[in-house]
Amino acid sequence: MKITFYGVRGSIPAPGVDTVKFGGNTSCVHVILNNGKNIIFDAGTGMRPLGQILIQTNDPIFILLTHSHWDHIQGYPFFIPIYQKERQIYIFSGEAGIKDQLCSLLDQMDGAHFPVDAKQLPSKAKCILENIEPELHSHGINIKRKPLNHPGGGYAYRLEEDGLSCAYITDNELEPPGKVQTSYDEWVQFCQGVDVLIHDAQYSEPDMPHKHGWGHSLISQVEQLALDAEIGTLVLFHHDPDRSDSQLEQIQQEAQTFFKNKGVETKVLCAWEGLIIDV
Ligand SMILES: [Zn+2]
Ligand SMILES: [Zn+2]
Repeated sequence: MKITFYGVRGSIPAPGVDTVKFGGNTSCVHVILNNGKNIIFDAGTGMRPLGQILIQTNDPIFILLTHSHWDHIQGYPFFIPIYQKERQIYIFSGEAGIKDQLCSLLDQMDGAHFPVDAKQLPSKAKCILENIEPELHSHGINIKRKPLNHPGGGYAYRLEEDGLSCAYITDNELEPPGKVQTSYDEWVQFCQGVDVLIHDAQYSEPDMPHKHGWGHSLISQVEQLALDAEIGTLVLFHHDPDRSDSQLEQIQQEAQTFFKNKGVETKVLCAWEGLIIDV
């Protein structure tokens, strides 16, 4: 599988001179499986440039949404394949409380929040809100899910193919103050031995305790998870919009030192737009 990052930022797009290197677009990660299937994790603003590439083909697109916060859905109306006649788009989402039995990606295109109504789109979008794993299996996509510790809920995904694996876990607080959907030990089990772990690492120690309960993890907690779950490559993701390129470079350097000092082979990166990982 080949993983390409199109949006790596959390909360809100953060363009500007201080974010040129890592990028300012919000969450969107494209995975091409060895069997040719196109999977997209989240539909943040990074989805717009991805659309310019996927418009060149007519293959079905499989969108796996973690949850419906703005930074994970805003790219969809600007994703050109949705304006392609008969383009098949499957949207997998475990959302609750949505109207019309559609998902938030389509609901936001209602004429009031976006000028084009989803009902006028020429593409064929199908929302799948239940029995997600079996439906994905029927398309040759092997997925497991876990509930996120995040306000409003949501799901993490673990993708497997040909003995290789990738976990996409964003907007997740590893040690939340309130109700725990998935415990730390369960996360260790879920991520065990994964080749690539992409995990929310929005906060550093000075952000706490003020932002405890906001649904994001400390970089240090994510490093510990990677260590405990014995993963191959850790990708720190969903960067805070206020985090500059130089701060992210420092975070990456410190994280590399952390694993080196532990004497483990785990690689670690801060995700940037354009990063490609061949698993
Ligand atoms: Zn987010
Ligand atoms: Zn969120």
